[in-house]
Amino acid sequence: MDGPEFHGPEFLVALVNTRTFGDGASDRLADVASARAWLREHGGREAIGESQRIRLAELRDALRSDWLAPGAAPRPPLAQLLNRAAAELRPLFTVDGVTLSGAVGPDRVLGQVADAVFWAVASGAWPRLKACQNDTCHEAFYDSTKNASRTWCSMSPCGNRMKARAYRERHA
Ligand SMILES: [Zn+2]
Repeated sequence: MDGPEFHGPEFLVALVNTRTFGDGASDRLADVASARAWLREHGGREAIGESQRIRLAELRDALRSDWLAPGAAPRPPLAQLLNRAAAELRPLFTVDGVTLSGAVGPDRVLGQVADAVFWAVASGAWPRLKACQNDTCHEAFYDSTKNASRTWCSMSPCGNRMKARAYRERHA
């Protein structure tokens, strides 16, 4: 693995947040140069090409769709994309434990997404990976609340909507 960020849910959250919605909508995976720059920021060394960029963006958009309705494990179409990305992953046992080792070269990053999802599901973190319900936001976040009940990200106005709803629920 290239670094801690590539392994945990943080990598998946960062991947989903390469695209933003609403005012100032942006997409860091819109072209190869921008996608490579984003990967380098997250410890990726491989020079991905257009086909990897497209598959990475597909995985990202499927992750967001899945996280808008969090479940116990990835569902179709995300599951199919992950199975394709994970095709070359295999467990590698070392004196330190076990890792998933995958393809080398530009396809490596796709396996790393599948690897991060594998560990998120295995560790029980998966249902806490969510995308903000606000249609003009959809920011990905890790829900660390005790009962995993958060549906909005912490940004305003989403956070304010969340607070207003909590207030209504308290005073209902
Ligand atoms: Zn939000």
